[in-house]
Amino acid sequence: MNKTITTHYIDGAFVESHGHEMLDIIRPKDSQLIGRVMLGDEEDTRRAIAAAKRAFATYGRSTKEDRTEILRRLHEAASARLDDLTGAMVEEYGGVAQFARLIVESGVNAFLAAEQALQQIPLSRSWNKTTVTLEPVGVAGLITAWNANALFICLKLASAVAAGCTVVIKPSELSSVQTQVLVEALHEARLPKGLLNVVTGLGTTVGAELVRNPDVDKISFTGSVAVGQSIMRDAAATMKRVTLELGGKSPTILLDDADLDKAIPAALVMAFLNSGQACAAGSRLLVPRTQLDAVKRAIASAMHAFSVGDPADPTTAIGPMVSQKQYERVQSYIRKGIEEGAELLAGGEGRPRSFDAGYFVKPTVFVNVKNDMTIAREEIFGPVLSVIAYDTEDEAISIANDSRYGLHAAVLGTDIQRARRVAAQLRAGRVVINSMTDDPQAPWGGFKYSGVGREYGRYGIEAFLETRAILEA
Ligand code: NAD
Repeated sequence: MNKTITTHYIDGAFVESHGHEMLDIIRPKDSQLIGRVMLGDEEDTRRAIAAAKRAFATYGRSTKEDRTEILRRLHEAASARLDDLTGAMVEEYGGVAQFARLIVESGVNAFLAAEQALQQIPLSRSWNKTTVTLEPVGVAGLITAWNANALFICLKLASAVAAGCTVVIKPSELSSVQTQVLVEALHEARLPKGLLNVVTGLGTTVGAELVRNPDVDKISFTGSVAVGQSIMRDAAATMKRVTLELGGKSPTILLDDADLDKAIPAALVMAFLNSGQACAAGSRLLVPRTQLDAVKRAIASAMHAFSVGDPADPTTAIGPMVSQKQYERVQSYIRKGIEEGAELLAGGEGRPRSFDAGYFVKPTVFVNVKNDMTIAREEIFGPVLSVIAYDTEDEAISIANDSRYGLHAAVLGTDIQRARRVAAQLRAGRVVINSMTDDPQAPWGGFKYSGVGREYGRYGIEAFLETRAILEA
C-alpha cells in the first residue's frame, strides 16, 4: 500500500481538499511510511456542514420505512468491502487480523442492528388531544477514535440515520486509509446527497469547527476524557446535544469460587483486548488474597497464548501500538509501575526480544499493585495488567468502584447468583459475567468520567432524537 488521499466526501461526491497540509501515514509494525493524507480545514468542514443541512431539510422528514431502506443499503454496501476494510485496519492501525475482522464485522452489522432497534421505537404516540413525536435532532457531527475507527463510524452513522439525522464525520487522523475504503463502499449505497459527509483532518481544525458551528445540532464523540471535556465545554455555546464515549480503567473481579483454568485466560483476553488499546480493556484484575499465589502461577502459564507479532499473521495475539507516541506512553507507564513499587510478573520495559522496529511492547502483568498507584488509576491503553489483592467481597466491590472511570467491568465466578449480586453493585455502564460477550441491542456507555449518554440499540438511536408534543385545545 502506498496511498495518497487528497479528497473528502461532501454532498455525495469525492472532492479535492481545500486544506493542503499533508500528514504521513506510518505503518505501526515497522514504522515505514505507507501513504499520505491531505488534511481538511475549517472551510472543508463548513462545506460539509452546509451539505448536511441542505439534506436534512428532506431527510429530516423521512419515514421509518425510508430509513429502514437506507440502513439496508448501507449494510449491503459496507459488507461488500469487509476484506479490504480488515486489511486496511491491519496495515494502518496494526490491529491483529482476527480481531480486526471482528471489529469490522460488528461495524457492518451495526446497520442491521439499528434497523431492528428502530422498529422497537414508537416515533409517534397520541392520547386525548395530545400527540408526542420523536424528531431527528438535526445535523450530527460524528468524531471517532483510532482504535476501532470503522466500527465507530458505522455505529454512529447507523444510529444517526435511523433517527433521521444527516451527518458530518470527522474520523481519527490515524485512520484515513480505513475511512477512505469505508466511504468508497458507502458511496455505493446511493444515499441522498448530503446525508453522509466525511472530512478527514485534525481535531483542532475539523473537529473544533464541528463542535463550534451553529448549524451542527449534535456531537457524538469517541475518544479521550480531556478532549471529551473540551467538547462538552465548547458545545455549550451553541447548546449542542453531546454523547461522549470516553476512557476506562475497567475492573475484573475474580471471585473465590472461580475456576482458574477458565477464569484466568478470560481475564487476560479482556486485559489484552485489541492489544490493550481498548476502552473496555480489563486492566485491573482484583484477586482474593488467599488465592494470589495460585493466580500468579495460572497467569504465568497462560501468558504463552499472548504472542506478540506481525498483526497480519493469524496466530498473532498482540500487535504493535498505533504510533510512536502511544508506544512511548505505554513504556512510561511501565516505568512508573516499577518506580512506584509494583512487581513485574511478566513483560516489562522495551520491545520484546527479536523486534528491533515497530511499536511493539511486551504484554506486561504487574502484581502487588495498590489501587492508588498510577498504573491502577490512569488509562494506559496498552497491554498492561495490574493485579490487586482483596480480602472480602465488599472490599473487591469497593476497589472496583474506586476509580474515576465507570465504562466496563467483569465478574468471574461459579456461583451465578453471587456473581449477579456483585455485578449489580458495580458503577459501570456495562458489566459482563464470566467472559467478554456482546449484544448489539444492549446499551454501551460510561458512568462518571467514562462518558455521557449511550450507544447501540434503541438507546443509541434515542441519543439522536428530540421529543415534541403537540396539544390541541
Ligand atoms: P482523542 O481524544 O485524542 O481523539 C479522538 C478524536 O477527537 C480524534 O478524531 C481527534 O482528532 C479528535 N479531536 C482531538 N481534539 C479535538 C478537539 N479539540 N475538538 C474536536 N475533536 C477533537 O482520543 P484517541 O487517542 O483517538 O482515542 C483514545 C481514547 O478513546 C481513549 O481514552 C479511549 O478509552 C477512548 N475510547 C473510548 C471508547 C468508548 O466507547 N467509550 C471507545 C474507544 C476509545
